[in-house]
Amino acid sequence: MATLIAEGERRHVVIMGAGPAGLTAAYELLKRDVPVTVVEKDSKQVGGLARTVEHNGYRFDIGGHRFFSKNDEVEALWTEILGPEMLNRGRLSRIYYRGRFFAYPIQAVNALWNLGPLEATWCLASYAHARLRPIKNPKTLEQWVRNQFGWRLFNIFFKTYTEKVWGISTRELSADWAAQRIKSLDLWVVIRSALLPRRRPRKRGEIVTTLIDKFRYPRLGPGQVWERVAEISASKGHPVVLGQSVASVNHADGAVTEVVTTDADGRIRTHAGTDFISSIPIRELVAKLDPPAPEKVRGAANRLGYRDFISIALMIDRPHVFPDNWIYIHDPGVRVGRIQNFKNWSPDMVPDQAKTCLGLEYFCFEGDGLWTMQDNDLIELAKNELGQLGICSPANVFDGVVVRQQKAYPVYDDNYQANVAVVRDYLAQELPNLHLAGRNGMHKYNNQDHSMMTALLVARQIATGSLLDPWKVNADAVYHENIRVGERDVTGRQVPERVPAKA
Ligand SMILES: Cc1cc2nc3c(=O)[nH]c(=O)nc-3n(C[C@H](O)[C@H](O)[C@H](O)COP(=O)(O)OP(=O)(O)OC[C@H]3O[C@@H](n4cnc5c(N)ncnc54)[C@H](O)[C@@H]3O)c2cc1C
Repeated sequence: MATLIAEGERRHVVIMGAGPAGLTAAYELLKRDVPVTVVEKDSKQVGGLARTVEHNGYRFDIGGHRFFSKNDEVEALWTEILGPEMLNRGRLSRIYYRGRFFAYPIQAVNALWNLGPLEATWCLASYAHARLRPIKNPKTLEQWVRNQFGWRLFNIFFKTYTEKVWGISTRELSADWAAQRIKSLDLWVVIRSALLPRRRPRKRGEIVTTLIDKFRYPRLGPGQVWERVAEISASKGHPVVLGQSVASVNHADGAVTEVVTTDADGRIRTHAGTDFISSIPIRELVAKLDPPAPEKVRGAANRLGYRDFISIALMIDRPHVFPDNWIYIHDPGVRVGRIQNFKNWSPDMVPDQAKTCLGLEYFCFEGDGLWTMQDNDLIELAKNELGQLGICSPANVFDGVVVRQQKAYPVYDDNYQANVAVVRDYLAQELPNLHLAGRNGMHKYNNQDHSMMTALLVARQIATGSLLDPWKVNADAVYHENIRVGERDVTGRQVPERVPAKA
């Protein structure tokens, strides 16, 4: 909702969080001569989940970040910010399972060939059995995929990775996600399509984002874009305030008046403004409102869940380890879920071309066994798993560093939409000068382009009174007037959900 402000009144926007959403909002507002203050809890760098971490000259992402959008405005913005520093990259990513590499997206002939004659025969027999005796009305993800591919292929290509990412058994995940995402795909369709020539997508909109094979990538990693935006902001007199965590969001008479932040030493700063944008997690924002939000709103915010993430960067004394940008690890014997090879994203991610930097990714919950492990133990785990997988000898690893990332994924459970709606409605009615944008800011499991587009629309609401609603930006970062706000699978990326209790 646009905020009404008296003519001639000077606006000043306080932005919480210097990730892609917060910095895009700042960039847009500064272009329109609206002054901003961006506060960020990280004491060293901007970029949020899309930051690039540097360790002894080696650069790595929190998960590899592909730059691709169906929204031309977002693509143009990346070009405007970084120009020729945005590289065009090709994608190679494969699945690793029991010592073999499988093409991803899955190709039937490649998969069956790699499995070897005996396992391939078992897989085909298990597929035939599944087709002859399908599970009626499949309710779980496991049952649904088993019907389409057979047990054996399900176990190899679907079970372990899905369970690693979501931390939930495929027996507890609802069939809906697979049914919507994989739709009418089964093994026979995969084989048939492998034998027929493939039609290239004619339009950008036809491309399935998760399967794109060409994308852009900043020469020095995704953080380069956001560091550049922070530089531009500073050059206009508005440096990002680093190392300041939002401690309270004070409001009075139906409007937020100021944001209070603290640094690691407890020093307090107050940031007054006319308008406020939050890209920090909804759960945190609501907890910081002062006076507190009603019990119902606090309860709804508290029920929002998150999945956390650990990235372990290992520096390897070898020029080449594997040719992929990343590999999905389906092997059930190891805990690592994905391995990035940052040099294959951009050669300048390593300071010495004779070396390699791998990022081993572990999906977890804050406070669980992995999260609480000592850094040295995590590095040992990652080294040993590299050796166990036969990817590289632990002896080749000469350095390592651990990055823990809280709230990497907003969780879509049965009630998340209702919980977000309670918070959103409350804020829209009671505090219309407080705007939400971005991934955890809106609790949307989407890519950077979505965060950026929502931030652009919020900035324009503030600067121009535009009525375009950021909640109507879909998972592809495209604005759709006819979206029924809150509609599942339209404004947020599809993710698996638990089987409903009644099932
Ligand atoms: C593993 C992984 C892989 C990904 N891959 C891709 C990809 O290939 N392509 C792509 O486009 N996107 C990808 N993404 C998504 C992308 O990272 C996010 O969409 C994007 O970073 C969201 O931007 P944001 O500004 O909304 O949120 P964030 O990046 O989360 O930024 C929020 C900022 O707020 C700050 N903050 C939080 N709490 C406070 C507080 N109390 N006070 C002050 N500051 C605070 C945080 O430190 C952070 O800097 C990936 C994400 C992950 C986790």
